[in-house]
Amino acid sequence: MSTLTAELKEKAKKVPQRGMMDNVMEQFESAANQINLHPNIKKILSITNNEIIVNFPVKMDNGDVEIFTGYRVQHNNALGPYKGGLRYHPTVDIDAARALAMWMTWKTSLAGLPYGGGKGGIKIDPSKYSKTELERITRRFTFALADNIGPEHDIPAPDVNTNSQTMAWMADTYMSTRPPAERTANQHVVTGKPAGSGGLEGRDRATGYGVYLSIKFWAEKNNQSLEGKKYIVQGFGNVGYWAAHFLEKDGAILVGVQDAFGSIENQKGIDVEGLFNYMQVNDGSIADFPKAKEVKKETFFALECDICIPAALGNQITKENALSIKAKLIAEGANGPTNVEGEKILTERGVTIIPDILCNSGGVVGSYFEWLQNRNGELWQLDEVMAKLDKKLKESFNKVYDYAKAEGIDMRTAAFSIAIKRIEKAYIERGIFP
Ligand code: GLU
Repeated sequence: MSTLTAELKEKAKKVPQRGMMDNVMEQFESAANQINLHPNIKKILSITNNEIIVNFPVKMDNGDVEIFTGYRVQHNNALGPYKGGLRYHPTVDIDAARALAMWMTWKTSLAGLPYGGGKGGIKIDPSKYSKTELERITRRFTFALADNIGPEHDIPAPDVNTNSQTMAWMADTYMSTRPPAERTANQHVVTGKPAGSGGLEGRDRATGYGVYLSIKFWAEKNNQSLEGKKYIVQGFGNVGYWAAHFLEKDGAILVGVQDAFGSIENQKGIDVEGLFNYMQVNDGSIADFPKAKEVKKETFFALECDICIPAALGNQITKENALSIKAKLIAEGANGPTNVEGEKILTERGVTIIPDILCNSGGVVGSYFEWLQNRNGELWQLDEVMAKLDKKLKESFNKVYDYAKAEGIDMRTAAFSIAIKRIEKAYIERGIFP
């Protein structure tokens, strides 16, 4: 066979890259079948309510004008205002925004919050822009979204590559463009703001804390201790770092970390705070951390460990690497990190997955507390926030775990089933207008 024929054959074998929407729809299908979801409600939940795409110009530091494309997809609001983050990443497109919005609908429903689901962002590599440019991009995006967002309508929050600073700019822009008497009353148009600007004490660690709690609750149910358990983390941002921070306190050992710039391993343990401090002086990257060895990007998930925490982007655990994963527990800090094909392999191998809509729901629960705090003109203390998070996440975890056990299904299908049932009930109670 000529090299060319061999190459063509190889190409033909490659199926097109599955989008995130394929993934969330397959997960939805299997839960809908599990609960015999009413066909009319299935129709409604299979599509998004609104999709907003905005193209807007921004002046760069050098005086040139660049055009950016921003997205906000509002999947469903049967239970309350749309809620979900905005991410700044080159992978942001309409498919990703739709899938992520749908996951938010299930996440807020499962958590028992009075919210629906939305998601969006800008297709951009933020590392290529200065802070002043990012500020103008964020403000102009907020202005372009205009009344498509609002404190009782659609409430954005941070996500990949956005943070409390991004939210402070958004809140300020939104409030500044309201009529004078409405300005301060609109602080809760976004959550995840800095604590000094209406933000919630502890919102920064809420998602990572929730990931840690999910692992702890799972260990308790299975009569295991976290002491001495080895774990790896993909993504050492807000979610990955805080999850590791709390796991370390319980004696678990961080043995591998991967970020966009490198992959490192040390089976004797990586000092969580040491790595965090190193990143502050290394442009936010883990690369070349002196107290660990560099490992190959492709084999990161195959590292020796008990627990694996994907806390970066979607579609990371697939049929390409699911067979080589050593961990017995996967705690999904990211949204959609395991695709359906990867999950099938893992389930057959007896690996447990704590699904994203449960595992990383501490973030949006924290957002809900911030929203309440702003709406009621209150200021909550850190210990109060952490205790409330603990209580709420324990309730959700137990619901999912017990339902999965009772029905003999995996935790993802259980979590989706509980979430979808709650929305189905709301539709059945109120009917379809007109
Ligand atoms: N972006 C986070 C998530 O995916 C938080 C959303 C929120 O707080 O609204 O859950």
